[in-house]
Order: sequence, then C-alpha cells, then structure tokens
Amino acid sequence: MSDEPVRRLPLLPLRGLTIFPYMVLHFDVGRAKSIAALEAAMVNDQEIFLVTQKDTKIDDPEIDDIFEVGTISKIKQLLKLPGETIRVLVEGLERGRILEYTKQEPYFEANLVTPKKYDKAEIELQLEAISRSVLSSFETYVKLSNKISPETLLTVSTLEDPDRLADIIAANILVRSEDKQRILESFHPVERLENLYDILIREIEILEIENKINLRVKKQIDKVQREYYLREQLKAIQRELGESEGVAGEIEEYEEKIEKANLPEEVEEKAAKELNRLSKMGPGSAEGSVIRTYLDWILDLPWNIETEDNLDLKNAARILDEDHYGLEKVKERVIEYLAVRQLTKNMKGPILCFVGPPGVGKTSIARSIARSLNRKFVRMSVGGVRDEAEIRGHRRTYVGAIPGRIIASIKQAGSKNPVFLLDEIDKMSSDFRGDPASALLEVLDAEQNYAFRDHYLELPFDLSKVMFLTTANTLETIPRPLLDRMEVIQISGYTEEEKRNIASKYLIPKQMKEHGLPENSIILSDQTISDIINYYTRESGVRSLERQIATICRRAARKILETGRERVKITSGNLNKYLGIPRFHYDKVKNQDEIGIVTGLAWTSVGGDTLSIEVTPMAGTGKLVLTGQLGDVMKESARAGFSYIRSRAAKFGLSEDFHEKLDIHIHIPEGAIPKDGPSAGITMTTAVISALTEIPVRSDVAMTGEITLRGRILPIGGLKEKILAAHRAGIKKVIIPLENKRDLDEIPDNVKRKVEIVLAENMDEVLSHALTRMPEPISGGNNDGDQKS
Ligand code: ADP
Repeated sequence: MSDEPVRRLPLLPLRGLTIFPYMVLHFDVGRAKSIAALEAAMVNDQEIFLVTQKDTKIDDPEIDDIFEVGTISKIKQLLKLPGETIRVLVEGLERGRILEYTKQEPYFEANLVTPKKYDKAEIELQLEAISRSVLSSFETYVKLSNKISPETLLTVSTLEDPDRLADIIAANILVRSEDKQRILESFHPVERLENLYDILIREIEILEIENKINLRVKKQIDKVQREYYLREQLKAIQRELGESEGVAGEIEEYEEKIEKANLPEEVEEKAAKELNRLSKMGPGSAEGSVIRTYLDWILDLPWNIETEDNLDLKNAARILDEDHYGLEKVKERVIEYLAVRQLTKNMKGPILCFVGPPGVGKTSIARSIARSLNRKFVRMSVGGVRDEAEIRGHRRTYVGAIPGRIIASIKQAGSKNPVFLLDEIDKMSSDFRGDPASALLEVLDAEQNYAFRDHYLELPFDLSKVMFLTTANTLETIPRPLLDRMEVIQISGYTEEEKRNIASKYLIPKQMKEHGLPENSIILSDQTISDIINYYTRESGVRSLERQIATICRRAARKILETGRERVKITSGNLNKYLGIPRFHYDKVKNQDEIGIVTGLAWTSVGGDTLSIEVTPMAGTGKLVLTGQLGDVMKESARAGFSYIRSRAAKFGLSEDFHEKLDIHIHIPEGAIPKDGPSAGITMTTAVISALTEIPVRSDVAMTGEITLRGRILPIGGLKEKILAAHRAGIKKVIIPLENKRDLDEIPDNVKRKVEIVLAENMDEVLSHALTRMPEPISGGNNDGDQKS
C-alpha cells in the first residue's frame, strides 16, 4: 500500500451521512459508544475518524458493518442537548482508510492510512482536462435540477484546486450514499474526478427524463384545469343569461333517451360522441341545432324494433280476397311467393314487381300483403326521382341536410321489417347528380342491404328484414339491372263487368263507410254503375270510378241530411244531378263510315286506348307530313306503309306516279300521352289507302298491327289492354295480327262475345274487313302482291 502515513484515531460510525474533506457538518450523537469516541478524541487533539455505516438501521454496528474509507475530521464544537444527546460540529480534513481496528470497546479505534501526496505537475494536464468536463456537466446539472443555488456554481467554478473540486461538488449534489462513498474511496484525484463525471452524466440523464415526465404531467394537468375552468366560466355565463338549466337539462334528457333506446353499440357510441359535442356548444349555436336534429333522427329510428310475422297462408289468402275482387292469378302468385319465402326463411329471393296501368290495385295488394303478415306498411314513390341523394341523403356538411327517403320511410314505418312499397320504379330518371337506380339497387340487394349507409346518418342500417315490393306501369323503362332482380306480376286493366263488380262489392261499401252513410242508404243499380263507368270514366283501372263514387256519396250525404229522407236512389236518369254532364260518349263513336279515318288501338303506360288516325291527300310534291303526338318509331312505320302502297299502286287502282303530284298528311288527334311503337302500321296504311282511293272505312272496326314493306303483318304487344279499350269504345270488330292468336286466352270471354276478333296475316285481309269495298286494280299492273297465296 503506497498510501501513508499511518495514524491512530478514535472512530465514530455515521448513520446516513457522509462527510468529505473541506466539508463542515453537524450531527447529533446519542449512542454511548459514539460518545465515548468523542470524549477520547477531545482528549487527543480533537481529531476523530468519521466513517459511514453500511446500513443505517443497525444500532450497534460490528466492524463488518462499517465502510473502510472515511474522513479524518476536526471537532469544532460540542453542544450538550437535553437528554444524552450531544450535537457536534465537525470539519472534514482528509481521507483515511482503515488499516486495522485497534480497539472495539468502549469505542472503536483504528489505524489509518491517508492518501499519499501526488506530484501535481505530473498529472496537471489530466486534471485540467477532467475538471473541465466535470465543470461543464455540473453546469448542465445545475440548470436542469434547479435545486442548487447559482452561488454554489460560482464558488465551484472559481476553485483553484482540482483536488477540492470533486469533494465540494459531491458534497453538494449527490444523493445516494453509495455514490458519495464511491467518490470518497477514490484516493487519486484524477480517478476521483472521473468517477464524479461518470455519476454526473448519469444524474443528468435521470434529470432530463424526470423533467420530461414532469412536463407531460404538467401539460395534462394544465389542459384539464383549463377546460374545467372554461366550462365553469361558461356555466357561470349561462347562469347569468338564465340559460343554464336549458342546456344541462337537454343534455341529460338526451342521455336518458340514449340509454333507454337500447341502440346497437356503434350507434350508441356515435350518439354519445355527438352529445358530447353538443354539450360544449352554446344554446343558440347553429351547429348545436344540426347536432340536435341528428340525434333526434338517430333516436327515432327503429334500430331494434321488429314486428312478429303472421305466417298463416290461409289468413293471407283470406285477407287478399277480402280486399280485392278477382285478380285470381295475382293472388295465387302472391301466396306462392309468401310460401317460398317462408320455406327458404330468407329475404334473398327476387322482389315482387306489380306491373299494370294506374288504378288496378297494385298499391292496395301491397297493403294487403302487409296486413296479412301483420307488418307495418310504407310507401315511397320513386317516380321523378333523379338525384341519388334523394335515396341516400346528403352528407351532414351540406346545409339543411336530412336523411334520404329510404331512411325517412323506415322511421315512418317505426319497425325495421315493414313491407316497403317502392312505387313507380319505371319513372325514375338519372342526371349529373348521380344515378338513383344504382342506389336503389343497393337497397334491394340482399347481399348489401344489411348495412345500408345513408350519407346523413353515416351509420349502417340493417334493411335486410324489410320486405320490398315495387310497382310500375310499364316494364320498358325499368333499368335493366333492377328488372333482373324482380319477379314481375302483370295486372291488366278491368273489363266493364269486372269494374261493375269491384264497384258494387268493394268501392261503394268502402266509400259509404268513409262518408258515414248507413248501409242501404244509397241505391245504385247495375245499369247506373255501368253508366258511371261508361260516361264518366275512361280508364283501365278503377281509380276515377272510385272518385266518382266518392262524389256521389258526398252529394247523397248532403241530400239525406237536407231532406231527412232515409235513402236516395240513383238512376241513369238522375245521375247527371250527382256527377254533372257525362264526359265521354263511347256509344256515339262515329257510326258513319268515312274516307281517310281509321280507328287504331294503342297501348300506353296508362293502359289501352283507341286512337283515330286521319289522312288527307293534297296537291304537292310527294311529301309525307306527320302531325300529332307521335314518336320516331311511329313515323318510320308510316313511311314503310307508304312505300308499300307505292310499290302496289296499280293494285289499288292508283297511277304509278300518283305520289308525284300529292302530299300526304297523316294526323293523330287527341291525347296528351305520346304514342309510339310500330303497332299503328296497318292503321295508318289503311287510312292512306282509303284517302287515296276514296273508299270509306267501316266505323265499327278498329285495328292494330305492324306492317312490313311487303304488306305482311307482324304481332304486337299489350293485346288484352287494347281489346279492352276497343270494348270500352263500343267497337264491334277488331283486326289483329294472326301471330297474336296465342294471346287470345287472356281476353275475358264476355268481351270475346261482344267484340269480333279478326286474325289477319296480310294487308289484303285487313282491307277486306276495314274498307266498305275493295279497290279496283288497274288491269295489266305489274304488282300482283306476293301475299296472294
Ligand atoms: P294502383 O296502385 O294500381 O294505381 P290502387 O291500388 O291505388 O291502384 O287502386 C285504386 C283503388 O282501387 C283502391 O282503392 C283499390 O282498393 C281499388 N281497387 C283496385 N283494384 C281492386 C280490386 N280488384 N278489388 C277491389 N278494389 C280494387
């Protein structure tokens, strides 16, 4: 051991304290052994060896419990305190290491070595370098810790002796006793400074982390405090304005409603989020009212409300019969559909689409289906919808946004499994605002509609339990992909007899009930009902018939009240007192045969209709002039007919160049509904031939059929509607294409009995039935028709 010299001193173990050279320290001494050591020291030259105990808890330490290195110190002052305690003031002088204990009782005494003196010059550079590092890290430490006064920094930085530097810094800053001991045990100054540097760096790191954590915590606390403070302020302001209860009460009310509503998890979360936003808003703010509307919507929707189905098919059949006359095939198919749905237990099948003219009971059948299943019923017309947003809603960022009509209808239904009727799907259109048909497709698609997303709600709504039904007047304008998903049920117009039955069995009792008229208070004979049908309505369905009956009920009710009579009898004679002058005159359909006028039969989206085609030739240059409400296909078909006539001119007794000096004007009067399609081909051709040959056309004949350039006749659609229209118009004979023979099954027998149906294959046959006589061919003509077989 190179350290020297050896000294012998009394030893006092310190508990929880470390003393460094140059350090002044006072502590209290109570242990008898320690007091003995003090006394021994005072007898000597007041020097004592102070060493730290390894474990502060030990009261009576053994040799092994005491560190080996301590500080030789000078006792400066002793102060007797009450009791056996003495307060000591000491100053550290220099390090010492125990060589051996020389005494253990009544106090410890040991032989010590002190550090040898170093040749300062030898280690000057090393010292200088390490002291600089220590100093700069100490500075950082002071800055970070802000527990140490700047004066200490000043004192330390002005120290000349690097030997003291380490001890002073260690005495001032170190907390852990093992760190202090480590510095104390470093006898060589360079080693001591290095150790200190090491510890400082670690301490700085710890401080940095500590600061970071503190900062974060502080920020968090600040934010919470700030919000709390602001909210309190807001409350105070609202209280001043007398609004506080309103807002707080409203929030509470919503909270309660949300809790009670038993919403799906995702919906509830969203509602809570919105409510939280609302709670931060002033009572008058515009955004607040947007949120309120939104919350109301969410709360009003039947997220979990479902009605229980009545699956009894017999019951369904009974209700359909109860509500509707006839329609046997339709009812049968509806029951079949319900049966299949029940067996497959899902809604993935096709969607029923009722197709037919207005007023034939499409809506009312859908309503009956809902009634028989015990489901709610909603109806939404998509006719005229051209904007996708109408189906799917606008996003909430859009001013005045509301959900689309699907969601609105579901809200109206109040259950998530209503019967949902989409009316008039053939009248949808699309433009730049998006295609409503594709949105509708998603609604109807069982693979997608369990999570239908409305732009406004921003939440998926389950439409998979909804039973969708659709109606249309015609299949032609239904977008193809929609049509593919549907099972079409055609409902055609009613005959007069059917209408009469519907009126007497359904419409009249229904209207009487609605007008509060007792049974039998109105007497309407079958003849009167027929008169209403024939003179006051002109339709395929029974909608305006029902309106007329309602009018009669209204007037009759008044009469009963005014006159006190118990019943009123409505006859053909007094009908005009109730309904005004007759509006239509079928029976008076021209009963005079005329030249150039032919009755055709048309089929429009509102059912069958008759149309009268007029043709006049006049001097001109061979032009074909067409006027009236007619479409392109019809015009083409007129041209084809005209070409046919020219190619057969001689056969009709016309000179070959007849067209060179003539213009031919074809006009189709009356009717706001545009007519199109090729089925007026034979009608126009017949009218032109009649006009050119000046042979009259029979007034009680009507016709329909497409014509080819060679005079052949091609089949047409909508035969039943057309024949019913002819029947309504009092026509006795209808000429139709031979190929439509297969459709005759659909025509009710009583109609077939009244209207003679002629099947024609070519133009000759048509003319022979329609014209009062056949034209005389110019002999030697080159145009014997290919049709003569
Ligand atoms: P659509 O939807 O086809 O236009 P609606 O269902 O609105 O026709 O029918 C119009 C009215 O005629 C309703 O009051 C309906 O009850 C009645 N109706 C139609 N067809 C029948 C029928 N076959 N039996 C009884 N009432 C009918």
